[in-house]
Amino acid sequence: MPRKRYINAERAKKLEKEMLTCTFCGFCKSVCPYFEDNQWDPSVARGKVILAYGLGRKEIPADDSVVERLYQCTTCKDCERRCPSNIRVVDIVEAARADLVEAGLALPAHKKIIENIRKTKNPYGETIDADFGVPLRKAEVGYFIGCTARYRQNDIAKHAISLLRKLNVDFTLVDEVCCGSTLQRIGAKEKDVKRLMEANVKAVKKLGIKKLIFTCAGCLRMFKEEYPKHVELGFETEHLVQFLAKQDLKLKPFPKRITYHDPCHLGRHLKIYDEPRKVISMIPEVKYVELTESKESARCCGGGGGVRAADPKAAQRIASRRVRAASEVADLIVTACPFCVSNLKLGKDIIKVDVEIKDIAELVDELLVT
Ligand code: SF4
Ligand code: SF4
Repeated sequence: MPRKRYINAERAKKLEKEMLTCTFCGFCKSVCPYFEDNQWDPSVARGKVILAYGLGRKEIPADDSVVERLYQCTTCKDCERRCPSNIRVVDIVEAARADLVEAGLALPAHKKIIENIRKTKNPYGETIDADFGVPLRKAEVGYFIGCTARYRQNDIAKHAISLLRKLNVDFTLVDEVCCGSTLQRIGAKEKDVKRLMEANVKAVKKLGIKKLIFTCAGCLRMFKEEYPKHVELGFETEHLVQFLAKQDLKLKPFPKRITYHDPCHLGRHLKIYDEPRKVISMIPEVKYVELTESKESARCCGGGGGVRAADPKAAQRIASRRVRAASEVADLIVTACPFCVSNLKLGKDIIKVDVEIKDIAELVDELLVT
């Protein structure tokens, strides 16, 4: 029989009192995308809270099943919305993950991401940088592309650049490295995350940027919530949708049914709900349809929190449910995060539905009248 391994889960232990306020009411079950997928109690918020508590008190060994369950969380925060005890489930999950990584128990897929970022400064391990034809120079506005739009969904970056040019924005790109979001979510060592933060902030400041614009919800959340804990920013940050919502956009008519998928990092985490809807409302003849589960109660796309890398099939199934729901009411799903776009498209691949998926940067650039 393998020896039981108890770890020093110091970070989880610090949140022990909060974990004890879980009444096991099970309200978190009604919203957790992972529970909806596998119907296993250890995969829902209360299950993970119990596991983290057990690790902290050394009552539960960190065996494979415990590690697997603690990584079955997209960090979507939907359970926190429903939790009557106001438990910060995402913080607890991330603390327990950091303890697991510290003990050398990161999942193989996540070890690969950590190694890729150490070697290439991006989670995909890409060694050849993409050329977007924008020279780095001093400017008031910077566009932080983020690794997914840089290496996997680069049409989104191209459309965002085209849009900024059409709107006559004096902008530059940044000599950026990964923002650190994936590392933060999977519990990688703080010094690795901090190194990325310092490199990015230095690169932004070097160009005299006063406002940094993002198309990635995960990158923006990192800069807004995590960076200030470790580095002094000294510049403003906003999502492209916030920037666009302040413009008087002249757009071509688009007489189709559009719905908007709220990315968890932009919506529940940063509370940015109105701006994307305002941008869509500027499109003539559009028929906007709100999904039943939207804004605070939006369903997760299933890809975040390191789930896409560790459990791609589950990420795909979760995304397919969101796509199916949207396809019943709309011709086009618009969102504001390259990672959501990518995961929703993978979800669509396993179901036969007739619906398009686009980032808002693509849609607005295609419709903008110049
Ligand atoms: S909703 Fe909160 S209190 Fe209720 S079981 Fe889930 S984590 Fe525990
Ligand atoms: S954050 Fe999302 S995925 Fe994680 S336990 Fe809560 S509802 Fe489930």
